[in-house]
Amino acid sequence: MTRPSGPPIPPKSSTSPRWQHSLRDAVRDVHELLEILELDPLDTDWLQPGTGEFPVLIPRSFISRMRKGDPDDPLLRQVLPARDEHAEHPGFTQDPLLEIPLAQAGVIEKYPSRALLVTTSACPVHCRYCFRRHFPYETQLASQNDWADALTALKSSPDIREVILSGGDPLSLSNRRLQKLISELETVESITTVRIHSRFPIILPERIDRELLALLRQTRLRTVLVVHCNHANEIDASVRTALLQVSATGTSLLNQSVLLRGINDNVDCLESLSYRLFDSGVLPYYLHRLDRVAGAAHYQVEDTKALQLIADLRTRVPGYLVPRLVQEIPGELSKIPLA
Ligand SMILES: *Cc1c(COP(=O)(O)O)cnc(C)c1O
Ligand code: SF4
Repeated sequence: MTRPSGPPIPPKSSTSPRWQHSLRDAVRDVHELLEILELDPLDTDWLQPGTGEFPVLIPRSFISRMRKGDPDDPLLRQVLPARDEHAEHPGFTQDPLLEIPLAQAGVIEKYPSRALLVTTSACPVHCRYCFRRHFPYETQLASQNDWADALTALKSSPDIREVILSGGDPLSLSNRRLQKLISELETVESITTVRIHSRFPIILPERIDRELLALLRQTRLRTVLVVHCNHANEIDASVRTALLQVSATGTSLLNQSVLLRGINDNVDCLESLSYRLFDSGVLPYYLHRLDRVAGAAHYQVEDTKALQLIADLRTRVPGYLVPRLVQEIPGELSKIPLA
């Protein structure tokens, strides 16, 4: 069970939105990435994934926020496939959250009151630590037959108040498809809130276009956007502007990060990230302990260190800028605080 070999490349057309052009133009080759960053291939511990594996995908706007000539750049480290991806590590598995058997027509109902829809396999970037890097998207997409089975499942669960659009990245869908899905959700009386889990606003802020903002403003549902940002350097002026525009639609903005070795596992980094997010209208929500997915062991931070980091952060920033340090334990009814 491997992911499809990368997001569908949208057809060329001068009328397609700018973000689709940027995605088509994204870097898909490690050599090209290293060349842009003026890095000697011998200076980094990289590997070009084989065909059928989780491929490389990095939009140029994200690369432009990396430091040239620095093999330890925290943005680069998130997307550069390392030789260690192929090492076997005990406890690191294909489906660490035991989600694959739970997915029914692309709907994952793990927790009471909210359901998660796997809307698409496509992402704006491929993060090497992704816990869904082995998810069988081919057979588990809610978008099959235009959401019909997913909606039927939601209608038969009246305790579901909130629908979480996830993936992949739900903002890979066109505005027209998102509009259709949200209109369908609006017809289900018990649903009050639609939440979007997306890395697009951080990776390709041009995705936040006028149509999408209008869609967020006009729906009867409460809207929540949970972005995914791990380091303050990911937020440049264009990202900040896009986030503030989303905030102006009345959408609640939250961030989730993953605690990653060598990337954000120090208190200065976490402090800068919290302040930078807040300055862009976003509150820190979760700091996830790395899920133990095969290929990501080299990103793992020890639990004692994670707890110490959060304790230190609490002494530096207001309480509302301290993310909840959580882990996912299969079978539990919520994310579990690390203790
Ligand atoms: C994380 C997650 C949610 C949302 O949990 P919150 O604590 O509400 O953010 C819902 N469904 C699934 C399957 C999840 O993994
Ligand atoms: S954007 Fe999210 S879902 Fe996509 S590869 Fe990165 S972590 Fe995984």
